Amino acid sequence: MNFRFFIGTRVIFGKDCVKSNGSELAAFGKKALIVTGRNSGRMSGALADLLEALEGQGIEYGIYDRVDNNPSLDNVQEGGDEAAAFGAEFIVGIGGGSPLDAAKAIAVLAVNRMDPVDLYKNAFGRTPLPVIAIPTTAGTGSEVTPYAILTRKDLQTKMSFGNEQTFPRLALMDPAYTASMPWEVTVNTAVDAFSHAVEGYLSRRCTPVSDALAEEAVEIFGKTVDSLLNRDLNYDTREKLLYVSMLGGMVIAHTGTTIVHGMGYSLTYFKNIPHGKANGLLLEEYFRYNHAEAGGKIDRILALLKMKDLGEFGSCMRKLLECRETFTEAELRQYAALAMKQRSTGFNARTVVEADLFEIMRKSL
Ligand code: NAP
Ligand code: ZN
Repeated sequence: MNFRFFIGTRVIFGKDCVKSNGSELAAFGKKALIVTGRNSGRMSGALADLLEALEGQGIEYGIYDRVDNNPSLDNVQEGGDEAAAFGAEFIVGIGGGSPLDAAKAIAVLAVNRMDPVDLYKNAFGRTPLPVIAIPTTAGTGSEVTPYAILTRKDLQTKMSFGNEQTFPRLALMDPAYTASMPWEVTVNTAVDAFSHAVEGYLSRRCTPVSDALAEEAVEIFGKTVDSLLNRDLNYDTREKLLYVSMLGGMVIAHTGTTIVHGMGYSLTYFKNIPHGKANGLLLEEYFRYNHAEAGGKIDRILALLKMKDLGEFGSCMRKLLECRETFTEAELRQYAALAMKQRSTGFNARTVVEADLFEIMRKSL
């Protein structure tokens, strides 16, 4: 065994954790910029709880609520300028992965005058502002990862940056905030969390600790599948899904993702398919492709899910995710070429060539 393990985030998980931990916020300073989307903060109830907690501590706040889905470099530049002008001492991100990732980038840009494209150098002159993350989706695990995934219009794809300084310092995780997610968003994000666990599990960068977290995530995800299929989403299921999302985040904080995310970015960039769904559409064929190299682990995933074979897994995914988009051969060839350029492709269990990625997408889509 030869591994490192580090999660730079303190996690407080449970119902009403924002309201009951107001005193935790005071340690971060006297001025907070809240970074959120147009709806998620308000619809989830998280923004109201946070404002109550900040006011209770006498902390001044500003709100930047213009984070787009799949935020771009321009979007985080605007938020960074706002944080600097306000004189924020810390950032609180509320939302799905889009606002949480934007919060991390804004925390860097608030204190570093730099072209946002230089975020990808992963070296910042001044230490980023501390980030508190309050997730309202259960999928990306961004609250416990150092990554911020931003849309690179210049490269026609999405790319992540992050280092040990960009882990949120505190994650406040209340499953009740995910209850306002529509069924589709719930499914898409749940499948994203599952995808993180399995891509990390089948990555060359896996460790004994990340594997333990991944197996737990897969098993608990399996216990939610019937509820997802039946659209029966009670608190218990929401709680499990948020826990799976956190575990998946802890896995990829160590392993990164691999080819599923690499291909999925194009489905989001070019066809506007939501992130988690883009991954989920590719998973069955991803497992089939990797079976020759990692059959033992893939069989273990099926056993943990209590599914008999990949056919059952694929049919379950098709019931959860409907793909209405069509793709030309030229499009899929372009996506395969773009995915080959992602560094993470090199960490897939089986050594990948571009034609393999094209085939996985052709069979899946
Ligand atoms: P999202 O893009 O953050 O949100 C999707 C939609 O759901 C948005 O319209 C959002 O509203 C809405 N929403 C969020 N929470 C809600 C709630 N509780 N009730 C009602 N509506 C709600 O989706 P996501 O899947 O969580 O995040 C995807 C992003 O995260 C992508 O950019 C992806 O690349 C990135 N990601 C990051 C990591 C990481 O490690 N950092 C890992 C995987 C993916 P608003 O418009 O108000 O936001
Ligand atoms: Zn993801």
